[in-house]
Amino acid sequence: MSSKIEDLLVIQDRDRRINRLEREIEDLPQRQRLIEAQLDAHKKALHDAEEDIRKKGLEQKDLESQIEQRQERIRKFRQQQFEVKNNDDYKAFEKQIAAQQKEIVALEERQLEIMEALEQLDEVCDTKRAALKEEEVVVAADLEQFKARGDNLQKELEEVKADRMKLAETIDPDWLSRYDRLFSHFKDFAVVPVENQACGGCHMKLPPQVTHDARQLDSMTLCMYCGRLLYYIP
Ligand SMILES: [Zn+2]
Repeated sequence: MSSKIEDLLVIQDRDRRINRLEREIEDLPQRQRLIEAQLDAHKKALHDAEEDIRKKGLEQKDLESQIEQRQERIRKFRQQQFEVKNNDDYKAFEKQIAAQQKEIVALEERQLEIMEALEQLDEVCDTKRAALKEEEVVVAADLEQFKARGDNLQKELEEVKADRMKLAETIDPDWLSRYDRLFSHFKDFAVVPVENQACGGCHMKLPPQVTHDARQLDSMTLCMYCGRLLYYIP
């Protein structure tokens, strides 16, 4: 038959596993959300770039019609120029035509800038689209794994809990209730070894008598500083 301390150490092992499993299960949704948020950020970046392309396309069309307007004006000015009688009027039209041509040059320069920007944006979008496609596959696999991991952890948790319940039935109720109080307070260790004449929980130095008492694995020895159950196996 095992000692009461040894029984409690088994229970403690199960309780620590239960805590670890519960923490891991709690962390899963957070980790999942991080991955999803990253994917969403990449989708948004692509969408913004596509929106930029659309806007530049509209600007391009607008420039086109502005250039046509000016060309139309030049045509009209030239017709009127044919009909003028004196040199001054002729020169005045020449000046107006030159002004329109100057504007056209500026508009065409802007057109060229947009064309170059669009070329770059198209390339960026293609790269982003390809990366996103790959990322979506990876994320889908990751999420699948998270789900499987969650299911496994849940199953393991239930098994450990059932095992713990069965073990608890075999333990002295006085010891178990003291242990339970200590474990729910400290959440890590309720039963600790004496190490170098000190409590393995709070690390305070213990009197020789306590170390000696802790060898008795079937009688309760408590740390006078933290209250944890002590045991000592030389
Ligand atoms: Zn202690």
